[in-house]
Amino acid sequence: MKSVLVTGGAGYIGSHTVQALVAQNTNVVVLDNLTTGNREAVMTPHFYQGDIADERLVREIIRKHQIDAVIHFAAKSIVSESIQNPELYFYENTEKSCHFFETVVNEGVKQIVFSSTAAVYGTAQDKPIPENEEIKPINPYGESKAKIEKYLHLMSTVHPIRWIALRYFNAAGASLDGTIGEDHQPESHLIPLILQTVLGKREVISIFGDDYPTMDGTCIRDYIHVLDLAHAHILALQSLQKDQPLKQNIYNIGTGFGHSVKEIIQTTEHITGKKIKQKIEQRRIGDPPVLIADSRYLQEHLGWKPRFSDLKTIIETAWKWFEAYPNGYKQKTRVQ
Ligand code: UDP
Repeated sequence: MKSVLVTGGAGYIGSHTVQALVAQNTNVVVLDNLTTGNREAVMTPHFYQGDIADERLVREIIRKHQIDAVIHFAAKSIVSESIQNPELYFYENTEKSCHFFETVVNEGVKQIVFSSTAAVYGTAQDKPIPENEEIKPINPYGESKAKIEKYLHLMSTVHPIRWIALRYFNAAGASLDGTIGEDHQPESHLIPLILQTVLGKREVISIFGDDYPTMDGTCIRDYIHVLDLAHAHILALQSLQKDQPLKQNIYNIGTGFGHSVKEIIQTTEHITGKKIKQKIEQRRIGDPPVLIADSRYLQEHLGWKPRFSDLKTIIETAWKWFEAYPNGYKQKTRVQ
């Protein structure tokens, strides 16, 4: 692996992937516009603040750093925002990504890893979802990502590129040393919100619906440790670099096991030793009851295995980050 351009490398999953790439001595260059990312999370000296649609800048980076592969994370990813503002999501995600891929391919980059999402499946059935499940996104976010997958496929029919899209289920956890973690503004994800409640930054955690057809009535999700996600990107890059045909272009990343909202709250209470105030609210629009990945092909084809995705490690590492940096990156002062 020579030089890799990571867009969105200041974001949650991007920054952990950059850290993993740097740890294996890959030359990593990050391009991030910092609208949602954090400069402090970037663990490489090669950082450019800018937009993926800035063709001139992208060209300059590729030439200067002799980039041979890109991992494209940069995107908007708040489902509720996408429902309120679909134009923004189609512009920021779909249009800009297509433009970005056009630029990198014209510059001769042949290896592309794309950050996709389980949201492309929409309301899936109550079983682990394989990659060949029908694509039926139920929100503009999922739709905007599904279109980019399609675009990559079409590009690969006329350009000599090799690409892999990784469809993430629920990313969670933080680096083992607690130096980088999850910091979204605004925060909408379950585990950070629970931990903010533990820290007293929120009064109560809302449970969105307890009348789903699941064991305790709350939604079940497949939580995957961000380090396992990062590792999957490295394996995907390695497979793009081999001189062998790819077995497939799209892989799910999940554990194949699910946890309910109540289970996550209980485990967090156990790990932090604090009682968490909770309140049952209405179902959140667009939430399927169960979302679990069938990721056997990622394991069989790329040799991936989840190593940190048990619930205990996920919550312990997230808690370590939140305890040390209760105000996130903006006021990154470690609490002793
Ligand atoms: N959830 C919840 N309360 C919250 C945030 C999330 O009950 O304050 C639930 C949500 O309905 C879903 C699960 O937790 O079933 C995970 O939600 P998250 O937003 O973390 O990820 P998503 O599955 O939407 O990608």
